Amino acid sequence: MAKVFVCKMCGECCKGEGGIRVTLPEIETMARYLKINKEEFIKNYCKYQNGHYYIREKEVNGEKVCVFLQENGGCAVHSCKPLPCKLWPYWRGILNSELDWRALKTFCKGFNPNASFAEFVEEGKKVRQALLGNKKDEREYL
Ligand code: SF4
Ligand code: SF4
Repeated sequence: MAKVFVCKMCGECCKGEGGIRVTLPEIETMARYLKINKEEFIKNYCKYQNGHYYIREKEVNGEKVCVFLQENGGCAVHSCKPLPCKLWPYWRGILNSELDWRALKTFCKGFNPNASFAEFVEEGKKVRQALLGNKKDEREYL
């Protein structure tokens, strides 16, 4: 059977007011990748809200998008992007809500239209196990 989900790298989900919360280890990893120090990374690419760092947005054609979204829809930190982006679309809230999964499918072209919600959940469990193991991330929405 065709895969349940294959990202088409269109960048649609990287648009809007970013809710990508990042941890300090993730900040350090991305800073190393960009060959800058942690402080510079925070200054240039993060905003601080409610006690946490989030990736900042930039404005492109009057629209807010993630600061790392490139013109071709790719991600400037793809190989070391933070966990919310790596796990997407297998976030807990979506895995627990068929309604949210249906809503997401209306704008994201990565979903196999023939795959069922149960198959999506099954695949999500495997992806999460591979990325997280049995650890629970500090970001409650993940
Ligand atoms: S909207 Fe879907 S297909 Fe496009 S980049 Fe996001 S996850 Fe991938
Ligand atoms: S870090 Fe990369 S994958 Fe994550 S929202 Fe920004 S552009 Fe998209």
